[in-house]
Amino acid sequence: MQGLVLVDKPVGPSSFAVVKELRSHYGVKAGHAGTLDPRASGLLLVLLGPATRLARYLVGLDKRYETEIRLGLRTTTGDGEGEVTEETAIATLEDIEALEGEVELRVPRASAVKIEGERAYKLQRRGVAVEMPTRHSTIHSLQVVRFEPPLASKSSALERLAMGTVVRVVFRLRRRFWAEDAFIQRRSVPDLDQLDFLHTADATFPTWWSAYPDTSPLLVAWCGGPAARTLSGLGTRAVTQRALRTLGDALGVSPLRLRREVAHTWMHDWINDPFARGVYSYQGVGGTNAPRELARPIDGTLFFAGEATDTSGSTGTVHGAITSGARAATQVLRALRAVQ
Ligand SMILES: Cc1cc2nc3c(=O)[nH]c(=O)nc-3n(C[C@H](O)[C@H](O)[C@H](O)COP(=O)(O)OP(=O)(O)OC[C@H]3O[C@@H](n4cnc5c(N)ncnc54)[C@H](O)[C@@H]3O)c2cc1C
Repeated sequence: MQGLVLVDKPVGPSSFAVVKELRSHYGVKAGHAGTLDPRASGLLLVLLGPATRLARYLVGLDKRYETEIRLGLRTTTGDGEGEVTEETAIATLEDIEALEGEVELRVPRASAVKIEGERAYKLQRRGVAVEMPTRHSTIHSLQVVRFEPPLASKSSALERLAMGTVVRVVFRLRRRFWAEDAFIQRRSVPDLDQLDFLHTADATFPTWWSAYPDTSPLLVAWCGGPAARTLSGLGTRAVTQRALRTLGDALGVSPLRLRREVAHTWMHDWINDPFARGVYSYQGVGGTNAPRELARPIDGTLFFAGEATDTSGSTGTVHGAITSGARAATQVLRALRAVQ
């Protein structure tokens, strides 16, 4: 007997208690791949039999947490159960989101981590002062979603949706140099004066387009997917330089020469845009019903539209956004008729 049991652990039992129960139920050795606190609910991975050896491959997997935090308080246990020891000014939204990235977090004293063979929380109870170790973590994304008053069903539906990634740079140029410059015309791709799309061999900015057949001197550089994550947060200057390098390689001209042609640039990093938090929503595992849940009006007074609420199969598109608007308008009319 061996395998992986996906346990939806409720608030209450410790992770060890769950493992113990499965161990006695199946009569084989069992172990979990990362503790969930008794007060936390969520997915607990329990390995059975010889499969317990796979635990080391699972403990480091990325995790997603949803939590309610009281800001500005420090407690003896590092959670809501301990006594308050310090009260500070409340952090701003920006302070919280600035925590994204690589962080060194100190393990709370009230934890099960072993210090010289003894559990830290036991040492704490005995009043023994110890220097707690730090743990390195990567916070890929930290987002504050708020409905006032809280709308629990909407928050949990949002949790089950994921967002895509895009970084885009729009260049306004002094002239359509790719169509006019004999030097570039001679050296690079044919029919440059009719360039609409340019597909480069570059992994970061593979797709470019102009405004053609409109002859405005515009070029757009597009980076999507995992590559966009590597650019996100670097700022306009670094991203623009990266894009110009790609264009230079594709057209066979130096980035310096290209830079002289640039009148203005707009860089849009949707991942870091607090009003967008990414591009094109999609349904994560278990998220099939999330758009339907988001689209449901509340008490006939609150109505929701937007591409993420589309239930016609067009999420992530303008079509989905418009369809959802029409659906929300119908819901409003229906609610108004009901009260007349
Ligand atoms: C680079 C890119 C290319 C795309 N290409 C296509 C395409 O070719 N075809 C296609 O069909 N779709 C495309 N899409 C997707 C399409 O743009 C979206 O699906 C559509 O715009 C979603 O519309 P929406 O009304 O739901 O949301 P949005 O257009 O995102 O509108 C939401 C608005 O609410 C504002 N807002 C957010 N929070 C607040 C707040 N707290 N207070 C006040 N205002 C707030 C935002 O600033 C924004 O203006 C593309 C998206 C991107 C990013």
